[in-house]
Amino acid sequence: MVNDSLAENNKWHTLTVPQVFDILSTSPQGLSSEEATARLTKYGVNILQFKNKTSAFKIFIQQFKSVLVLLLLAAALVSGLLGHTTEAVAIAIIVFLSILLGFTQEWRAEKSLEALGEMAAPTATVIRASQETKIKAAEAVPGDIIVLSAGDKVPADARVVESFSLKVDEASLTGESVPVEKHINILAENISLGDKQNLVLAGTIITYGRGLAVVVATGNKTEFGKIADMLTQVEVNTTPLQKSLNKLSTRLGQASLVVIAIMVALGFWQGRGLFDSLIFGIALAVAAVPEALPAVVTISLALGVQRMVKRNVLVRHLPAVEALGGVQVICTDKTGTLTKNEMTVSALWCDNREIKVSGVGYEPTGAFMENSGKTLTADPILREILQVAVLCSDAKLVEDQGRFIIKGDPTEGSLVVAGAKFGLLKEFLDQEYPRQAEIPFTSESKRMTTLHKTSAGYIAATKGAPEVILNICDKWLTATGEVILNDDVKNNILQAARKLASQGLRVMAIAERKNEADINQASRQMVFLGLVGMIDPARPEVKAAIQICRTAGIKPVMITGDHPITAESIGRELGLIDGGQIVTGVELDAMSDADLFNQVDKIEIYARVSPIHKLRVVEAWQKKGMVVAMTGDGVNDAPALKRADVGLAMGITGTDVTREAAAVTLTDDNFASIVAGVEEGRVIYNNIKKYLTYLLSSNIGEIGLVVGAIFLGFPLPLSAVQLLFINLVTDGAPALALAVDPADSDVMKQKINSRHQNIFDRPTIWLMVVGAAWSTIISLCLFIGLLLSGYPLLQAMTVAFISTIFIHFVKAYSFRRPHGSGSGSLFNNKWLNWSIILEMILLLVLMAVPTFQGWLGIVPLSIFDWLLVSLTALTVYPVLALTKKMQGSLVVATSN
Ligand code: ATP
Repeated sequence: MVNDSLAENNKWHTLTVPQVFDILSTSPQGLSSEEATARLTKYGVNILQFKNKTSAFKIFIQQFKSVLVLLLLAAALVSGLLGHTTEAVAIAIIVFLSILLGFTQEWRAEKSLEALGEMAAPTATVIRASQETKIKAAEAVPGDIIVLSAGDKVPADARVVESFSLKVDEASLTGESVPVEKHINILAENISLGDKQNLVLAGTIITYGRGLAVVVATGNKTEFGKIADMLTQVEVNTTPLQKSLNKLSTRLGQASLVVIAIMVALGFWQGRGLFDSLIFGIALAVAAVPEALPAVVTISLALGVQRMVKRNVLVRHLPAVEALGGVQVICTDKTGTLTKNEMTVSALWCDNREIKVSGVGYEPTGAFMENSGKTLTADPILREILQVAVLCSDAKLVEDQGRFIIKGDPTEGSLVVAGAKFGLLKEFLDQEYPRQAEIPFTSESKRMTTLHKTSAGYIAATKGAPEVILNICDKWLTATGEVILNDDVKNNILQAARKLASQGLRVMAIAERKNEADINQASRQMVFLGLVGMIDPARPEVKAAIQICRTAGIKPVMITGDHPITAESIGRELGLIDGGQIVTGVELDAMSDADLFNQVDKIEIYARVSPIHKLRVVEAWQKKGMVVAMTGDGVNDAPALKRADVGLAMGITGTDVTREAAAVTLTDDNFASIVAGVEEGRVIYNNIKKYLTYLLSSNIGEIGLVVGAIFLGFPLPLSAVQLLFINLVTDGAPALALAVDPADSDVMKQKINSRHQNIFDRPTIWLMVVGAAWSTIISLCLFIGLLLSGYPLLQAMTVAFISTIFIHFVKAYSFRRPHGSGSGSLFNNKWLNWSIILEMILLLVLMAVPTFQGWLGIVPLSIFDWLLVSLTALTVYPVLALTKKMQGSLVVATSN
């Protein structure tokens, strides 16, 4: 058990590694899972506590902050005091129902946002019971051994126990802008936090190298915990759409005040009492303001985000949902996103010989064969290449329930497997040639070097992109020994590399240098050993996803660190090449920003590029006015991901830094998931639009009915209570159902033409206006016609009341297909069907029970009346269908 008294006051940086292990009662093998569980209970989870959660009570209270609710409550009170009991009770019940609806919507929205926070929880890699495992960062406990590599966010305060060129960005804690190098040596007691170079601190970021550290403090006990408000959470910023809709709500709210004033004045002038006019004005104002709008938008965004999770798209930043729906260019990595990142070495080249390797996957069985058909079992050059390649790799091959799996980078894993096929097991090689130092792989350098000690002296092992490795070699290994590497041979080797790449293989060169103890010196004047070619099969689902992109007007662009020929081969296989160009990093460097701007829409593949190039590509597309999504996994991809309209981080291969820079994480790293995310984004956007057009068109229609009747000098067709009932009770459920409408089947066939989406595009406005105008006209004609034909006022008002509700039902179905397109049943939104069925039942009950009749001011209707009402409402459908048809040629998806 941990020696708590020592641990509490300890100056970890002054202790040796064995002392730290001792106090924390742990070892390089890590804790057992039982011990880790026990410590989790004892020390608590490794997270900081938040205080700013909105409680249910607070949400409830917030409902009363609405001016309209307060006005209605006041109206109910005044009605009661003046003896209008029926109205008082009816208004009170309606207000109660509306508060309940508002409360549930906001509560739901709050809960969904909380759930998002949990999904985006960071992870940590730890060693437990000698096994490297990924856990939630919240589950890290004191004594855990954490594995640190470039791009990771340190999960807890920890004492470094192994460091290979480990560098950490501590700017967030100490303000130090340059990454700090970490080591394992002990330090003096009284030094500042920034000088504790043998500690890594929670919340800081590994920028380079690799290492191990033992956790000494978690949660609020960390240095980071002392400055809790710096903790980055899931960002729930308002989206541009939310902002513009909030503005719309405010405007409508202001307009409603004007409506109240006019109605009160008009009512007074027409001889209706002040009280009646006032209540009626309030009811009309309620009709004008879509109060639930902000909550509904949040719900549909949040629910959409939950649907996205099921499709492997994790959103951290709500505005990204909208941006995803509007994406026009997807810039994607190759390895792991377009391909499976399941590497298998299938060919080698050495000493002018091509060697094929049999066997697929990570099973270490297979043979090495020359073109002549001869199987090689003890070839010395082959042995040297494989040995060096395995020594220069960090991945491990492990057997898990009878299956072989790779822990670590699949590229390196494939080398370890190839070595094992030749009988060179990594565990034994590592013991025989212990690693002394290393220069880690980066996407910029495109190579990696390790230094090993042997009984016969030092050996440096290097692997990387062929052209990079050839640059640091001056000899090569042949059957006759080491020979000078002249330009002819170099060209010959590059030719061999191109040949392998043209088969879609990822190609790496292997080199070594013996008897040099300084790793920097050793990674020069090396001996070239040979080339290794690996298959990385394309993901089968990507081809179809690229086709979908094309019909949806989205341009896929590949940006890869790999060789142009390998990239082209994969690009062709997937149908990504469509007559465009392939540009390399070197060519890109030679292009000015203006050149790139002119050519960017013709370039389909960028190969042998570094992360820095990604930023230029994003900016060039954005200058063209396009909405760009960009994938990335490494530390240096972060600026491009931040700059892109939608930054997409990789869940599997990605680092914490990229995940934090990106708004979205792809949990399966798959290109097809990006396309799924775009589809969901479009569905959400369309649904908010459906909800809004339905609500506004319905509300304007009923205001038109009332105002029209007043101006034509007829009695009011709807009472204040009826107006309140329609707006606060019957409209709510169908509107909500529209906000969760199932996807139109043609959502990915609509092309997006503009970066500036506007929810109120021309076709939408037309549809809304025609819908509102038509319902005003028919309901007004019906009401006036009935009155003129001798209907009693109460009965004519009941018909107006029911027909308004029915018209809204029909509109809900009409607005499901705002563009008149889309297939699938009109009735496949079960929420909408159920809400309408339940409301019909509610209406029938209200009509049948005399008390309710009194409250609502309605009377039972004859069969003829019901028929009349239904037919009138149904006319809305063909009228809107015709409008959609006429708009058809103008409609372009969600853009204007
Ligand atoms: P992307 O994922 O962006 O499509 P990539 O994974 O092919 O591209 P990088 O990982 O930057 O790009 O690799 C670029 C080149 O660096 C590879 O073609 C390979 O030659 C070399 N390389 C890749 N991984 C390693 C490694 N672990 N050690 C040494 N060299 C490597």
